[in-house]
Amino acid sequence: MERTLILIKPDALARGLAGEVLSRFEQKGLKIAGIKMIQLDDQLLREHYSHLADKPFFPTITEFMSRTPVIALCLEGLEAVAVCRSLCGVTNSRQAAPGTIRGDLGMSMQANLVHASDSVETAAQEVARFFDPDELFSYEPALLAYQYAADER
Ligand code: ADP
Repeated sequence: MERTLILIKPDALARGLAGEVLSRFEQKGLKIAGIKMIQLDDQLLREHYSHLADKPFFPTITEFMSRTPVIALCLEGLEAVAVCRSLCGVTNSRQAAPGTIRGDLGMSMQANLVHASDSVETAAQEVARFFDPDELFSYEPALLAYQYAADER
């Protein structure tokens, strides 16, 4: 099973959509391995968005992402990284497909409700960046046998 890092962004919290966003992942069958609310500071944001540091819009991302606390999730499942990315939809919410979180709930490139790690390697780094080991939990969901076939578990 893979683990991935999700952030429910300030726009989702401000708009009362945090539960809806979490629900999309839960209903799909992702297991919550970790969950917490966190106020992102400049240093954490610079690390997290280092791939965008030279973009002209970078200062607006850090301002937006620190406007309110975010909800950090570590989600677990088979191919969880790719599954979560596809549930989110493409970065620009206006272009995101209907049925995805961004496609159904957003209109913005920046205020796009949710972050999801973009590769297995990034996910490992991001989970470690946002969660201490004792904040991550291993447990067997009661319905696991109905979520996956025996040879998938
Ligand atoms: P994603 O979150 O889909 O993986 P990126 O890693 O490219 O996308 O960008 C990180 C975040 O930065 C986006 O989710 C979005 O909030 C913001 N962002 C990306 N591109 C722009 C842009 N051109 N203008 C404003 N904000 C942007």
